[in-house]
Amino acid sequence: MGCDGIDWVIAMFTAGIPLVAMVIGALWVPLQLCTAIFTVLFAICSGISITAGKAVIRHFSYHRLWAHRAYSAHPLLQVALAMTGASAGQASIRTWCRDHRAHHRYVDKDKNPYSINKGLLYAHYGWVIMKQELRQTGRVDLQDLSSDPIVTWQPKNYLFLLFVTAYVFPVMVCGLLFNDFAGGFVYASCIRLFLIQQGIFCVNSLAYWIGDQPYAGQNSPRDSWIVALIRFEEG
Ligand SMILES: [Zn+2]
Repeated sequence: MGCDGIDWVIAMFTAGIPLVAMVIGALWVPLQLCTAIFTVLFAICSGISITAGKAVIRHFSYHRLWAHRAYSAHPLLQVALAMTGASAGQASIRTWCRDHRAHHRYVDKDKNPYSINKGLLYAHYGWVIMKQELRQTGRVDLQDLSSDPIVTWQPKNYLFLLFVTAYVFPVMVCGLLFNDFAGGFVYASCIRLFLIQQGIFCVNSLAYWIGDQPYAGQNSPRDSWIVALIRFEEG
């Protein structure tokens, strides 16, 4: 993959801005207790919206609710999940589900957009910053999502929802409640987003790299307690 294959907007959003925020935070914006508590709680909400493990919280996810259609949820809850899911910066529901269904269908083949066979770093982050037309994503059936009004509504408004939920909301909460606008931007927005994204990416990389294979060894997925710890039991 040469530099021409990198989507620099995505790279800036997922790595450049968070790294600048970390430097700003380390040098000029000390972490206040209230901002830290809010950042942790908001990070949990964002993370649960994408993937989650057992018990009640598994209802709350891009993964099980939409990609696998494992459960149904009240429309108001789906709207809330579509918004908190946007705050995790993991693309729209439709894009996420397309990649994830291809990931399962072609698990150890080239058509898996983030196959571990393409390397640990590629499965973790390389595929994220690769231009869409250069990625090898296998075809999957998305007809059920096409008829879902929330799934069709969210992508059309995704960038606006991302901006409001990932940046405006945490900055306003920390600024208005704790008088800490700068901390809200550095910690609750940028660093929270970075950590959530990297944690979710671990499911695509570390969960296929380390851990046990108690049921079948012919495919790459593994049962990893480390990833389970990072990703709310989903390891
Ligand atoms: Zn899955």
